[in-house]
Amino acid sequence: MSDWDDWQWQLANRIDTSDKLERYVELTEDERRGVEEASKRFTWAVTPYYASLMDRRDPRCPIRLQAVPTADELFDDIGVPDPLDEGKHSPVELIIRVYPDRLAFCVGNRCAVYCRYCLRKETMMGKPEQDFSDERVGEGIQYIQEHPEIRDVLLTGGDPLLLPDERIESIIARLRALSHVEVIRIGSRTPCTLPQRITPQLCRMLEKHHPIYLNTQFNHPREITPEAEKACALLAGVGIPLGNQSVLLRGINDNAAVMKKLCRELMRIRVRPYYIYQCQILSGTRHFRTPIECGIEIMRNLQGYTSGLAVPKYVLDTPYGKIPIAPNYVMGREGDEMVLRSWDGKLWREPNPLSKETPLPLVEAEPALEAESCALCDCCALHE
Ligand SMILES: *Cc1c(COP(=O)(O)O)cnc(C)c1O
Repeated sequence: MSDWDDWQWQLANRIDTSDKLERYVELTEDERRGVEEASKRFTWAVTPYYASLMDRRDPRCPIRLQAVPTADELFDDIGVPDPLDEGKHSPVELIIRVYPDRLAFCVGNRCAVYCRYCLRKETMMGKPEQDFSDERVGEGIQYIQEHPEIRDVLLTGGDPLLLPDERIESIIARLRALSHVEVIRIGSRTPCTLPQRITPQLCRMLEKHHPIYLNTQFNHPREITPEAEKACALLAGVGIPLGNQSVLLRGINDNAAVMKKLCRELMRIRVRPYYIYQCQILSGTRHFRTPIECGIEIMRNLQGYTSGLAVPKYVLDTPYGKIPIAPNYVMGREGDEMVLRSWDGKLWREPNPLSKETPLPLVEAEPALEAESCALCDCCALHE
């Protein structure tokens, strides 16, 4: 195995200064300043692998935009540090609980690449390493043990797969010992940002503790490389169902054609698109946010235009939990008929028995937008 293929080498040689990054890209003034200023405030590092995917010359490269800060990150008049109020939903230090039967368990604060739009970049990621000690993790496990209604535990952070295999196994084994924990999910971006991390040994270990699910995060088709494909094949090969949670990011994937290509490519590497997240009102991310209408238009251009299996759910995460957002296909009732709109904009009248509930009003159907176009904002234009 060459050093490049060794995940420890990738981590040991992470790029954490603008000078090191300059070996991969010709930084603009804005990027150089962004790296220098933002890395004083937030953790910043990129794996050589992920940097190698960057376009050397184009500052609008979707990989660069995700990982290289610009001065925009330092100014944001409406963003807040903890938009989901996760601090208030934390019964013990490392646990975030919003739902009755499942919770997020943040077992580490390291990542292979620190995303510029990370939801936890000022909260979890800002915590010192010792906050993720064995003792703290033990408190989290104890909380789960004392709450038999928890049947699904989502290991997140930070990226749980940056921990050594033995530590991951010890956490998973302790959760597995609790009979009420049915499902263990891992949230890891390593298949995208450090695919070398997915080793046969890691997969053999995880396989012993099924049912294990893994959700990853690819945001752009350019991230789907032979290395990423191999990592996903190893995970899928030991029976781990793979899902993808992408973030809708202005200038990166806020375009129906890009999103459709991403979802199809994910299906090809056996990753099922699960969520598209609306970008949060998080400090320093104003330049990434798109109007919610843009996300709705993207969804309208996926449903029916590609395999249903390739169509994720578009969600807005809030302090109350995730809220699904979808184009409206139900126009309303007209007498004994329900009027619905098909994926390509045709109206369909379905004979419909009277409901006890107040009949839905009939809404004027808008003409469907042409596939792969969106006229709501100037976001798509950024791709041209
Ligand atoms: C997203 C999330 C989950 C998992 O939600 P699903 O919709 O079941 O994938 C659980 N807990 C928290 C706090 C979350 O943010």
